[in-house]
Amino acid sequence: MPCIFCEIGAGRVPADIVYSSPEVTAFRDINAQAPTHLLIIPNRHLVSIADLRPEDAPLLANLVSVANELARREGIADTGYRIVTNCGLNGGQTVPHLHLHLMGGRSMGWPPG
Ligand code: AMP
Repeated sequence: MPCIFCEIGAGRVPADIVYSSPEVTAFRDINAQAPTHLLIIPNRHLVSIADLRPEDAPLLANLVSVANELARREGIADTGYRIVTNCGLNGGQTVPHLHLHLMGGRSMGWPPG
């Protein structure tokens, strides 16, 4: 089975894409948990944040920078937002391709479930 997020990043599987560059793609989560809920992925396959190496620091910076820019575009920058990445089983990760969740538009609780 091909990786669903690799397929979305390559444009072979449709998604509600809000940002795309050679390195990064962002799209709306199909099961949104907040008024704004976007996923920001590297187009290159990495299983999770645990896969990042020191030389991937520019990629991580790019992912966060895109998330921040999208927060501005979505109009949630001033009210605040959450960027989260789940890693592995206990982290609650269900899709094994690194992604940042960008969520906002409502008040969030802490700690998360
Ligand atoms: P996680 O549980 O942290 O791995 O997050 C995976 C997220 O991907 C979930 O919030 C899903 O709703 C979302 N998701 C899964 N498949 C798709 C898809 N084809 N398009 C958009 N979002 C998806």
